[in-house]
Amino acid sequence: MNPGISIWRGEDGKLITWAWPGGYPVLYITKKNEILCPDCANSTDPANEEDPPIMGFIHYEGPPERCADCGKLTESAYGEPIKYDWDDINDVLNSSEWSRFQNDKLGNDLFINDPDRAKRQYEYAQNGLNGSTPQEEIDDVQEFLDTLVIGEEISRHQYEKFMLELDKSEAWHENNGSLNRPLGD
Ligand SMILES: [Zn+2]
Repeated sequence: MNPGISIWRGEDGKLITWAWPGGYPVLYITKKNEILCPDCANSTDPANEEDPPIMGFIHYEGPPERCADCGKLTESAYGEPIKYDWDDINDVLNSSEWSRFQNDKLGNDLFINDPDRAKRQYEYAQNGLNGSTPQEEIDDVQEFLDTLVIGEEISRHQYEKFMLELDKSEAWHENNGSLNRPLGD
């Protein structure tokens, strides 16, 4: 028996499911480097004899791990770190990711995708003005947010919050009569 595995056994001799203190999820690695959930690591199935668990580990953070045997997913204790730490819509608008998206969208393809807007922006740009309408900008930001992976790049909470801020901005412009007036007029 591999001595490395013995520290992961509870008083009943079984491989533990949770590590204390803290109640962290424990997973197991087999000789052939497969990941097993505690149930499968404790299984007396003959297949287990061929490829036994040789060590345990605490699944602190990162994406869920899938058991190679039963396919069960085990969430990490702290979940997945979120890539962008934007607090509000201004953080989004100041990000280089948004700039890149906007430059791509308003680049040469705009003449194909939305010729009226492209023509207007071109004319406004002669005077150093933007030429997009608030409605267009709000739609762009929503489109950008929808390209992000929720749960990895931004959290569900961030997504809902930013969408709400955009809805408020849209309502404000609607009230103000400025929703479809090009910026710079
Ligand atoms: Zn399993």
